[in-house]
Amino acid sequence: MTDQKLPSGTTVLLKGGRVFTPDADWHEPPQADIAIAGDKIAGIASSYRTDSASNIETIDARDHLVLPGFINAHYHSHDVLAKGTLEEVPLESWRLYALPPQYPPRSTEEVYARTLLGALECLRSGMTTVQDMLTLYPYEDRHMDAVMKAYDEVGVRVIFALQYADRKGIETIPFWKDTFPAELHPLLSTAAEPERKLDLIGHFETTRLKQPAPPRVSWALGPSAPERCSPALMQRTIELARRYDVPVYTHIYESRGMALQARLTLPEYSGLLIKRLAEEGVLDPRLNFAHSVWLSAEEIDLLGEHGAGVVLNPQGNLKMKCGIAPIRTLQRAGVRVGLGCDNCSCSDAQNMFVAMKLFTLLAAVSDPIPGPPQAVTALKAATEAGADGARLGDSIGRIAPGFKADLTLIDTRDPTFSPMNSAARQLVHIEAGRGVRHVMVDGKVVVRDRQLTTVSETTIYEAVKAVMPEFRRDFTTISERVAKLQPWLDQAHRKIMAAELDIDRLPHLKN
Ligand SMILES: [Zn+2]
Repeated sequence: MTDQKLPSGTTVLLKGGRVFTPDADWHEPPQADIAIAGDKIAGIASSYRTDSASNIETIDARDHLVLPGFINAHYHSHDVLAKGTLEEVPLESWRLYALPPQYPPRSTEEVYARTLLGALECLRSGMTTVQDMLTLYPYEDRHMDAVMKAYDEVGVRVIFALQYADRKGIETIPFWKDTFPAELHPLLSTAAEPERKLDLIGHFETTRLKQPAPPRVSWALGPSAPERCSPALMQRTIELARRYDVPVYTHIYESRGMALQARLTLPEYSGLLIKRLAEEGVLDPRLNFAHSVWLSAEEIDLLGEHGAGVVLNPQGNLKMKCGIAPIRTLQRAGVRVGLGCDNCSCSDAQNMFVAMKLFTLLAAVSDPIPGPPQAVTALKAATEAGADGARLGDSIGRIAPGFKADLTLIDTRDPTFSPMNSAARQLVHIEAGRGVRHVMVDGKVVVRDRQLTTVSETTIYEAVKAVMPEFRRDFTTISERVAKLQPWLDQAHRKIMAAELDIDRLPHLKN
């Protein structure tokens, strides 16, 4: 076969990698060259002629897998510094650690440092896009600016949403109000709740949505969870989402308690939150539901009908004692399934390899009958589905001409890939991140030879070290406060676990 001529305008040539184009066999991806012009993929060919390539950067991609960069479709940068602070904690109690309401306002330096660190971790594990659903409480423009500055400097792509709600946590968790003495109630809300002084969404619309987004940033909306948002707030959310054509990210049914709350408070919608959203006219393809562990069969069908998607976060769901999402039922209903790594205090690792591996293993136990192979599906969930959910499916998440050059190169000269029986299965079941060697975003190499090229990693670690004394001091105060609430937290949790729940409606628990 003769070599092809390089497309005009080529700036970077990836030579000889095994490329995961959408239609390739992902167990045995073929060797190919990728020509990149500026921020986009200009062409893919079995081989390009390089005689005229003197001013083109050529990257030797032989012995590498070239994947579309992973899309971390559910993440919160607000508690990056809390990684490793907790072991198993029921979700309802964990929220008091992750988003404590009486947390002293954070310094701009801390907000900046934690955003840098989180972005660094994502890039180093092969993610090129992150959906940050951020709580800034109390909201300050200078914090928001620090977040944008950090993302811009690091060079990761971001789908950015502020998290908001207009109902207090205590009102939305079964048994809490009756279990805790009244004087403790003020300690039970979280910072993902109403801003008292500011119309946060209105402010976000004026200062961000209406403005041109910074490079590599696209805006999104982040209502915390339907039960924490009034119908009016959900309505306002979907109106904005449609007006600006942006995606919406929210949490649903992460825990048994969240499903129970819907049953107890929504008799007019048969106890089903998704039905409430469908009847309110809010359910549409723009919606992405993080977790979706306790969805009923009826709700899964509604998601399929309305084209709404889910984002599964298996690591946090296990550690927070939440359970296993009905993966196979979601797949059968044709629901879009993306993958995320959620908070650093509950999932700890921003690592898509861990998320993909757990996804395939939990799919196996989510239905007793053997089902279709899941390794390729997991890889597509981590790339294509995340892009589609963000409404960016025609520009990221796939390796094809015209798409953004957001690529992850994995070195196969490693025991993980020796012998190479299936690239897809070995990526999902064996690789843990060690192989991620180069990462490109927008055609620019942002990780080269496992080192960030845009910001000095040492500078990031130093910036984190500088803010940690204050963070640790405040986190210790929070932990001591939650410890005092423990007897009532335990009591309320036992009540949630003991309450009757209609298992017949929950496909994966019925088996
Ligand atoms: Zn979350």
